[in-house]
Formats: sequence, C-alpha cells, structure tokens
Amino acid sequence: MALWYCRVCGLDYDVSPWGPNDDTPDYGTCECCGAQFGVDDYSVLSSRGFRQQWLADDAAWFYANLKPADWDLEAQLAQIPEKYR
Ligand SMILES: [Zn+2]
Repeated sequence: MALWYCRVCGLDYDVSPWGPNDDTPDYGTCECCGAQFGVDDYSVLSSRGFRQQWLADDAAWFYANLKPADWDLEAQLAQIPEKYR
C-alpha cells in the first residue's frame, strides 16, 4: 500500500521521505522527477516550480532504468497531494 506521494510528480512511495511526522526529510532524490526531498519540495511554490521545469523537460525519469514500461504520466500527476498541485 502506498503511503506517500511525491509532491512534485505524484510517484507513490511505501515510506515517506519526509519522516513519520512529515518534518524530517531525508534529502533523497525522487527516482522519477529528480526532486530532492526537503529542498525542491519544501513548499507549495517550490514544488510547483520544480514540476513545471520537469514537465518542460518532457517529464524524464531521473533514473530512466526505473521507469515502468506502462508508465502513465497523467495518472501519476493525479496522485499529487492536492495542496501541492
Ligand atoms: Zn517526484
């Protein structure tokens, strides 16, 4: 079961990179959009800005080898937490 969705791209994660209380980011990198947790997704504005850049760059996967063959960009974008859209 997915517990957390990237604030920038909506990719689902089993464990939140922001920690159990949503306040201790691990500064890891989203494998899809390449955002650094705690930095690029720190605020609504920074998340939106990074997303715009990422989409303008053809929504390329940061780790291209992890991209699912049946990846659906629109479905994933719909998973972005409402506050960060
Ligand atoms: Zn992401």
